Amino acid sequence: MNDIKLALLGSEGVGKSAVLVRFLTKRFIGEYASNSNSLYHKRLSIDGRQLNLEIFDPCSQSTESRCILEEPVEWADGFIVVYNISDRASFLNAKNIMCQIKEAHVENCKGEVEVPICLVGNKQDLCHARQVCEEEAHSLAVENKCHFQEVSAAEHYQEILTMFIKLIRNVMDHLKYR
Ligand code: GDP
Repeated sequence: MNDIKLALLGSEGVGKSAVLVRFLTKRFIGEYASNSNSLYHKRLSIDGRQLNLEIFDPCSQSTESRCILEEPVEWADGFIVVYNISDRASFLNAKNIMCQIKEAHVENCKGEVEVPICLVGNKQDLCHARQVCEEEAHSLAVENKCHFQEVSAAEHYQEILTMFIKLIRNVMDHLKYR
């Protein structure tokens, strides 16, 4: 059994809990009230490997504070950085969070920072109110050598499952679990 630790980070209200609950239960829970940091556990098998997933969903207020952000940044093996496609400020915050993750992780011998991250544009169903175009987010992901995916926790399960599996495979490679 291999352990994998993931953290969801992003501004308050972007849908971190909704994305996570969709992955864990296949359901969309419209209002998910939580005022504390939550740690979820899930066992799953990928590519014949039994995995013990721990997923950290911080209480929203805490992600705005740099000193509290440092805790999941140090702890996790992989990150899901979430913004809301209809909220430009949340995209700018996602950019900052990615910088903070990279600063906290050591460089390899080629001077590259190796840390599995997926940049996620949530609330794709609100595309009529879009404030962040896909191309811009895609460029940010390319710059940071990470995956990028737009999703809608409200409407789709499959794309969220695919995003998690890709990130987990990336973490497995990184931790040399396969
Ligand atoms: P968090 O603070 O980042 O954990 O955000 P929540 O998961 O609590 O979601 C904040 C609000 O956005 C809630 O009212 C959710 O119902 C809503 N929400 C989450 N995901 C989506 C989505 O994909 N589409 C839409 N339209 N609303 C969403």
